[in-house]
Amino acid sequence: MRSPDSGSEMEEIFSALRFAADKHRSQFRKGEEVSPYINHPIEVAELLVRVGGVTDASLLQAAILHDTLEDTETTAHELDAAFGPAVRRLVEEVSDDKSLPKAERKRLQIEHSPGLSTAARQIKIADKICNVRDVTSKPPRDWPMTRRVEYLAWAERVVAACRGVNPKLEEEFDEVLAEAQVRLATERPV
Ligand code: ZN
Repeated sequence: MRSPDSGSEMEEIFSALRFAADKHRSQFRKGEEVSPYINHPIEVAELLVRVGGVTDASLLQAAILHDTLEDTETTAHELDAAFGPAVRRLVEEVSDDKSLPKAERKRLQIEHSPGLSTAARQIKIADKICNVRDVTSKPPRDWPMTRRVEYLAWAERVVAACRGVNPKLEEEFDEVLAEAQVRLATERPV
């Protein structure tokens, strides 16, 4: 059965897609394939729906917008005006403070994750699933093996700090991580 609200929810989701596609329009992923950046947030949202069974429109909007604050010129005010305070807050929850050095930001992701909302934790797990896959099969050209291995270990710690929100997504992460570890171990030069 369609909920009476499904039309407007569809509209909200597509409006987020259009906004994110525009904000990321000149960006590309770091991998060898150089795919358009927007492919990444689309993958994260698709995973939340398909694997995580997520149907909440605000959560999916925030997933689509999850890198706009961190990686584009988008402001919190803009998100608020376009999508409302709930979506803006969720995107803020999953964004690092860019004024901090990278290592500190990575440490804080582990430290802050247990205190995030269940919606934000689901987005973070889906994001890490996609990133672990990318680091495994289409890593940034300039990443040596040690950096890829370190990324997997860090992602595992962030997801450990997010657990208890969506068993299917958490299982998917475990599978993707195990595959990644096997694959990198066989690729690793002896
Ligand atoms: Zn992301």
